[in-house]
Amino acid sequence: MWRNRDRATQVTCIACGETVSRSEAREYDKEGDRYDRSDKEFEYLCKPCHRELNHQPRGGLEQLLAESGAGDVSREEFLTRYTELATESEPRSESER
Ligand SMILES: [Zn+2]
Repeated sequence: MWRNRDRATQVTCIACGETVSRSEAREYDKEGDRYDRSDKEFEYLCKPCHRELNHQPRGGLEQLLAESGAGDVSREEFLTRYTELATESEPRSESER
């Protein structure tokens, strides 16, 4: 039985805005240190986004998120910028499975 549909178990993907269950999401820590959990609010990525982001160099991802205005602009704005930047730096040839 699936009873845990309350918001506590739902997280929002920071890349696509999709709401997924926490167990299906991947933690994304902007500071890159997921073992230091004190006073931190983790962000989440859904699996498809996490997989795509992993194809990029770590430094590039940070820069990409920063340039996209993560946390500073509306989600819509962020997604628009992010998509532009992401497609610009990486040709659309990821292997779909
Ligand atoms: Zn996503």
